[in-house]
Amino acid sequence: MSRKSVTILGSTGSIGVNTLDLIARNKADYDMVALTANKNVDSLIKQAREFKPEMAVIADAGLYSQLKEGLEGTNIQAMAGADALIECAQAPVDWVMAGIVGAAGLKPTLEAIRQGATVGLANKECLVCAGEFVMKEVAKAGATLLPVDSEHNAIFQVFDFEKTKGVRKIILTASGGPFRTRSREEMADITPAEAVAHPNWDMGAKISVDSATLMNKGLEMIEAYHLFPITPSQIEVLVHRQSVVHSMVEYIDGSVLAQMGSPDMRTAIGYALAWPERMETPVEVLDLATIGQLNFEAPDPVRFPALRLARGALEEGGSAPTILNAANEIAVYGFLDKRLKFLDICRVVEETLGSIKSREVTSLEDVFDLDRESRQKAQEILKTLH
Ligand code: NDP
Repeated sequence: MSRKSVTILGSTGSIGVNTLDLIARNKADYDMVALTANKNVDSLIKQAREFKPEMAVIADAGLYSQLKEGLEGTNIQAMAGADALIECAQAPVDWVMAGIVGAAGLKPTLEAIRQGATVGLANKECLVCAGEFVMKEVAKAGATLLPVDSEHNAIFQVFDFEKTKGVRKIILTASGGPFRTRSREEMADITPAEAVAHPNWDMGAKISVDSATLMNKGLEMIEAYHLFPITPSQIEVLVHRQSVVHSMVEYIDGSVLAQMGSPDMRTAIGYALAWPERMETPVEVLDLATIGQLNFEAPDPVRFPALRLARGALEEGGSAPTILNAANEIAVYGFLDKRLKFLDICRVVEETLGSIKSREVTSLEDVFDLDRESRQKAQEILKTLH
């Protein structure tokens, strides 16, 4: 494999750290161009000193002097603020990990796409809130988008892009999260600590809460719609608590192709990092004999209304997915800050969707305006529920 130059957007997060873990094991194959974080300046300094990128960027401009001081004596350029993040995403590079969480990742991910890089896409929210625009930019720039979300990575591996007419549907598997078997009543007093403790995956706080509400699967339905040539009605969700079958494609002849593996993001990240080759990873070998059983069940739409909300937004299209995503981000962080009850997360999303008139979204500026407006509305609704 020839050396690849690499930028990691969101290097201090769960995806970023896993990506760096794989790179650390294969240092001779990669040149680090940029590492970025939001506020976690100490981790960023530590990573930068180890991986020696050309640039280290902290999005919170107030942390610039700390970063600069921490990088003293190195040749690494310390940068800070939203514009610096964009500038670093514009730096020519072969491969970019889009590992920032939330719609905050949209602008830098777009810049990485616009320079025609191969982009490992973990940041699903950017496809949820601006999928059509992002995919247009991918086509325009001739960029390559490789899904890193484990479900989409699984589908990418088994989807026959040459014969799309043969595909009947895709089946996204969901672990069901930590509250799979709890009644609605039992969910009322769930704490942030319980919600972030995912049974199978070790992930950042926001996606962990999304997994607990099943909104993560809802966002993934919208993400899948943009990544693969399918219609909304061809997307199904199946709860599979072991998280071994990462997703499936069903063909019209009755064949169902699945991608399987131990639940460790380094398989999907490694796939995207080495693509079109494969790389060795330290992921535990899948031992089906020890696992013994794989279970599947239909999701419960009553206990987990997020799936209904996301499917509704997907089918409606236009402004609905952008509103859904923005309201969900506000509600999730409200829950993490203990300003909102777990069951009210979906209530904020549903009420925000109901109170903003659906409209045509014809440009990225429209997306940003709508995102802002939806966040304001969701904050107002959140306050009434507090
Ligand atoms: P984390 O919260 O662990 O990390 C997020 C990263 O983004 C951190 O580096 C964080 O910096 C940075 N960041 C956060 N907010 C901003 C901002 N406003 N501006 C710039 N940078 C910011 O998230 P995950 O790694 O869990 O998830 C990242 C993305 O990948 C999400 O979209 C998630 O849905 C997706 N994903 C994650 C999976 C996982 O296993 N974790 C699996 C599949 C998809 P700082 O550390 O300073 O806060």
